[in-house]
Amino acid sequence: MSKIIYMDYAATTFIKDEVLEEMMPYLKGFFGNPSSQYSIGLRSKMAIESSRDNISSAINCKSDEVFFTSGATEADNWAIKGFAYANKNKGDHIITTKIEHEAILSTCRYLEEEGFKVTYLPVDGEGFVNLDQLIDSITKDTILVSIIYGNNEIGTIQNIKEIGKICNEKNITFHSDAVQALGKVPIDVKDSNIDMLSMSSHKIYGPKGVGALYVKKGLKLHNILHGGGQERGKRGGTENVASIVGFGKAVEISMNTMKDEVERLSFLSNRMIEKLLEIEGAFLNGPEGEHRLANNINLGFRGVYGEDLVFNLDREGICVSSGSACQATSMEPSHVLLALGLSRELSKSSIRLTIGENTTEENVDYVCEQINNIVNRIRTVRK
Ligand SMILES: *Cc1c(COP(=O)(O)O)cnc(C)c1O
Repeated sequence: MSKIIYMDYAATTFIKDEVLEEMMPYLKGFFGNPSSQYSIGLRSKMAIESSRDNISSAINCKSDEVFFTSGATEADNWAIKGFAYANKNKGDHIITTKIEHEAILSTCRYLEEEGFKVTYLPVDGEGFVNLDQLIDSITKDTILVSIIYGNNEIGTIQNIKEIGKICNEKNITFHSDAVQALGKVPIDVKDSNIDMLSMSSHKIYGPKGVGALYVKKGLKLHNILHGGGQERGKRGGTENVASIVGFGKAVEISMNTMKDEVERLSFLSNRMIEKLLEIEGAFLNGPEGEHRLANNINLGFRGVYGEDLVFNLDREGICVSSGSACQATSMEPSHVLLALGLSRELSKSSIRLTIGENTTEENVDYVCEQINNIVNRIRTVRK
């Protein structure tokens, strides 16, 4: 295979050169344990704190409200389970949505087995939560609301500020999985009344295996990882220093470049959506316009299996997804597309393309042309 065109940035990204450069000294020279008292240990500690500063200023919280984790899966688990167990004396009801990432959904299903009650809010045809429905689902036992900021499959950006306001007025803790929103949407946890926020490094050109949870000061949260005194006693285990440094750098770069990059990606994704919708029987999944993540394109093609499209595009060196990366192999239709009201058939005829840093206008036009050819070919064979 010659050149690869990667259009699955929501699954993961490459590491930017500047990020890797920042990490290298902590993989080779400065190997000290951040908990040690001597200078190379201190050097690691300072690097971690500087990364924490980058992340806190990106989301407008205090530095000591940011806790590093092994990724967003851990952050989501910690936020939901850690909060539920620490606050079960106040109530046993959690509200989330049908379109969450599996890290939230399977954590909630686990808590149901543990005796908690969970409401999975439906969404409308574009993936938005209805705020009146949210209010109606709140009971005197509700302790936590968890709603994804920007959806990883269909790109829907929720009305997070209004949701935060509702939770704040009702004195309910609000968590949001912001993995896909970070770097693409300005996030302000104070202004949006967000109490906990999950982030991941490898979706924003940082290394895999590191993420963070923002926890508002004063919030009661049980530990998930018991161990040493790292992360102010909240999350044991020797820190993944180099990766934390890389994550911090990736966040810094993404904040500096967000405005221009989002504009560029919006232009490209809108162009792509427009072109693909010209194919007969094509339909868009998720919202149009500004409430959609700038890098997300999700479309279905009637009479064609998404999996067939993915397979045939791969033969042309084009990487796209027939669902989220975590479910793409399951052959089950996407729970997110089903929640939009799509039939199983139409859900299975959809693909997700997510573009990023290396995507060019030429790539976009080429991939659209290839999709057009493949869709027509598959339809001809099936007739
Ligand atoms: C990728 C992703 C996760 C999981 O993040 P990891 O760091 O890979 O564990 C969680 N939520 C969303 C929305 C994601 O896109």
